[in-house]
Amino acid sequence: MVMITVDLDKCTGCGACVDSCQHRILEMQDGVCVPMKPEMCRFCMLCVAACKPKAISVEV
Ligand code: SF4
Ligand code: SF4
Repeated sequence: MVMITVDLDKCTGCGACVDSCQHRILEMQDGVCVPMKPEMCRFCMLCVAACKPKAISVEV
């Protein structure tokens, strides 16, 4: 299964990753990104590319 990790020290809560994910896997909660349905992730890496502070990582 895909592992989506958000470094909460780096996440600015900008929401760019949420907007980039066409599968609606990511959600904003309390100002940070939370992966809600990692089992649906298609490993497209668009969220990683969208995250300027490099706070989100996606690994298989
Ligand atoms: S890798 Fe793609 S499908 Fe997976 S959470 Fe990021 S944007 Fe969504
Ligand atoms: S794009 Fe990066 S900094 Fe912005 S909300 Fe997502 S994980 Fe946080």
